[in-house]
Amino acid sequence: MGTVICPNCRKPIYDDDALLCHFCGGSLQRAGRGFLGRVRYANQKVMWFFVIFAVLVAFILLFARV
Ligand SMILES: [Zn+2]
Repeated sequence: MGTVICPNCRKPIYDDDALLCHFCGGSLQRAGRGFLGRVRYANQKVMWFFVIFAVLVAFILLFARV
């Protein structure tokens, strides 16, 4: 998705999940941004889990009353 420029050797890394530079092994210093992105992604997954869970509970209640 994005390209990260290594702060140590200024080479582009085309790996969104990379935390270390492929060329010099230095830290890409994006732990905070990666963490926020992961939290946002996790929240999206949790939100979908609750939506599916709510639909399942609604169906169970519907069939339990019949
Ligand atoms: Zn580097």
